[in-house]
Amino acid sequence: MNARTPQDELERYALAARGANDAIWDWRVPEGVVHLSARWGEMLGSRGGETVVAPDAWLERFHKDDLPALRAALDLLRQGDSDRVEREARVAHAGGSELWLLVRGAAIAGADGQARRISGTITDITARKRLEEQALRDAFQDGLTGLPNRAVLLDRVGQAMDRRRRPDDGQFAVVLIGLDRLSGVNDAMGPAAGDHVLRAVAGRLDEARRVGDTVARVAADQFGVLMDGNADATSAITATERLAAGVAEPIAMPGGGTVTVTASAGIAMSNTGYTSPADMLRDAGLAMVRAKAHGRARIEVFDDALRERALSRLRTESDLRAGLERGELHLQYQPIVRLADGGIAGFEALVRWRHPVRGTVPPSEFVPLAEETGLILRIGRWALAEASRQVAAWRRETGRDLFMSINVSGRQLQEDDLARVVDQVLADTGVEPAALKLEITESLLHSDPEHCARLMHAIRERGVRLSLDDFGTGFSSLSYLHRYPVDTLKIDRSFVRATGSGDRRAEIARIITMLAAALDLDVVAEGIESELEVAFLRGLHCHYGQGYFFSPPLSPEAAAALLER
Ligand code: C2E
Ligand code: MG
Ligand code: MG
Repeated sequence: MNARTPQDELERYALAARGANDAIWDWRVPEGVVHLSARWGEMLGSRGGETVVAPDAWLERFHKDDLPALRAALDLLRQGDSDRVEREARVAHAGGSELWLLVRGAAIAGADGQARRISGTITDITARKRLEEQALRDAFQDGLTGLPNRAVLLDRVGQAMDRRRRPDDGQFAVVLIGLDRLSGVNDAMGPAAGDHVLRAVAGRLDEARRVGDTVARVAADQFGVLMDGNADATSAITATERLAAGVAEPIAMPGGGTVTVTASAGIAMSNTGYTSPADMLRDAGLAMVRAKAHGRARIEVFDDALRERALSRLRTESDLRAGLERGELHLQYQPIVRLADGGIAGFEALVRWRHPVRGTVPPSEFVPLAEETGLILRIGRWALAEASRQVAAWRRETGRDLFMSINVSGRQLQEDDLARVVDQVLADTGVEPAALKLEITESLLHSDPEHCARLMHAIRERGVRLSLDDFGTGFSSLSYLHRYPVDTLKIDRSFVRATGSGDRRAEIARIITMLAAALDLDVVAEGIESELEVAFLRGLHCHYGQGYFFSPPLSPEAAAALLER
């Protein structure tokens, strides 16, 4: 405001204010009164036109928490130590709600330099403040449970780390609690029921936590807890057991009835020497995954063994990538034998990794990892092409009607364009389609039955055959078999083993062979190691056998030599 033409300025201000729906205040300092425009009363929900009140009477309308700052700003203005005021403050609306107001003003100084008149506008900024508060809440709070979110937890863990720079400082723990089978609740009772369970669990965790500890929701069905002041892992475990026990209490559902969920938890302790909060949360998560793998409703502490495993997996993954580039993967071929006459009917291709340092690495040590990381897609394409090329060559060279079984992983079935990959391989190698058998593990069929059935039909249309591997180990429902166009069942070796030892599970081998006969399918018994097993399986009219009794997996050269004999 320009002090040389104060009257003009005030009028212009008043006009602008009216346009902006602001109220106007005008404090005549020597007179000790404040003029307030009619809009002031309207804002506060009382009517009655322009008012004139004592400054204190006006100021006392403002929220007591906001008043000291407002007063201080006005004092500075009055003493000529500043020339503007701009403050946000709350007032009570006559209807009982709270308004946020922005008070702006400027002073006109008298000859002594002190303010003679202070005036300005008052703007209702309630709507904007509500939006800001909401945004602030959203940034730090989980909308469903009202708990702090992952960002808040990480921040608090970071603070806890900062407070403990000296080695003899106490420890703290980060606990990750995952609900077991929440998706089961969602599937069976709908997502609203799942939300109810989550809110109930959040409430219990928050109530059971110790003062100073933080409970946050960090993922859909996961809660993170920062536990401060634990002497050691044992006390963190005890505290976690208490939390988990609270979670496992039955939860009353709005529609009646109760639901019980259990929790698996992983703990990371600060004395392991973390420098990043995210690392600590990650390790608690790894421990939780192990807890779940060990049978749920368990608690695991992240320790050196777990760290070593995590590290070695990382190393293995990058080694495997490099190994794939350098051609360290190769295939071995295990003969599949006709039980009737002992002749070789075909081979199963089994991948091996010739690691420059570790030597030959068995598939059990890298196929699961390759599946997790997606590398299996490249490995699978390569294995399919290489094994097809090999069987085409052997068929040409020996003139025998050999087949080749090739293992296909779940991810290839779900993600790769497997029908097109097969077309490509058939075109590139010129192999007879009927000479190829893709081995699929039975458990795969449960994840996406329709997609699997479609893909399997597409593969069968090309004349390529399909085999169900490890049959009998999944949740075998024999009745679904007719849905899938399979040619062969491979009896898992655990049932074959049982045949030699009088184990009752030998009955399963019998049932599978009977079933296969009824459905007109081939049967291969895997993992045959003894004469006794051969005799038993022959008695069942099982067609084919595979196992160390006949031959271990062989290099291509050794397999070729065997074919010549
Ligand atoms: P699988 O497909 O069930 O393969 C049979 C496994 O049994 C092979 O283990 C084989 O060496 C082993 N075996 C054969 N005869 C006997 C026996 O008489 N006794 C015993 N105890 N074992 C026997 P391997 O080669 O270690 O392969 C393990 C698994 O790795 C395979 O099980 C298969 O699921 C997977 N795999 C192997 N190669 C590939 C591949 O190229 N792609 C994919 N996706 N998986 C593969
Ligand atoms: Mg197999
Ligand atoms: Mg198998």
